[in-house]
Amino acid sequence: MDGHEADGTMARILDLTQGIGPETKVFPGYPQPIVRPWTYLDKHGYYSNWILLVEHTGTHMDSPAHFIEGAPTIDQLPPEKFVAKAAVVEFKKKPGEPVSRKEFEDAVRGLPEKPGKGWYILVAFGWDKVGDLDTWVKYPYLEDDVASYLAELGVEGLGLDTPSPDNAPFNVHKILLPKGIVIIENLANLQALAGSTFKFIAAPIKIHGGSAAPLRALAVIEE
Ligand SMILES: [Zn+2]
Repeated sequence: MDGHEADGTMARILDLTQGIGPETKVFPGYPQPIVRPWTYLDKHGYYSNWILLVEHTGTHMDSPAHFIEGAPTIDQLPPEKFVAKAAVVEFKKKPGEPVSRKEFEDAVRGLPEKPGKGWYILVAFGWDKVGDLDTWVKYPYLEDDVASYLAELGVEGLGLDTPSPDNAPFNVHKILLPKGIVIIENLANLQALAGSTFKFIAAPIKIHGGSAAPLRALAVIEE
């Protein structure tokens, strides 16, 4: 899609979001999202659905409160957090394989700009294309010291196309979230943007006291 930015320059908008519906993959034990008709055009004169889902369904942002008592919940995050710059690093990994700090640093070094404050680093594994649930839950993960590196860079957030950056006991979450570095999980279409930087919009819905919330993630690419 092409559109004019407010300053008159052309921008291409890419949707980095996974859809939410009965087919959306969730962790074993989690309920499938329910999107059920509430009103019908022919019966009520207007169409609407009733939705029921865990906050961590589809493309969503984890707030610090997800792991830390008393930390900001999703509605308490400042809106400045939702409009940023982003850089995509890509790794070709098999199910369950880790990314080391060295690999991650090398990938960041290959970017046209160095990410820091005001930036998200988005990690492309191509996991949004994985159809099989058994493979999907064996996602590649980031070693703990990758999280330390992200904290050293001082970025706003980490995003991935996998359901999580880590496995139990969730050390990446526990290193990043106390520093206010949010985590966006289940992004889509990142591979096409590997190695590039762009304006990034990811605004979670404002759930009072929410641990996380679904969002629409967009790449705004200046042409
Ligand atoms: Zn989550």
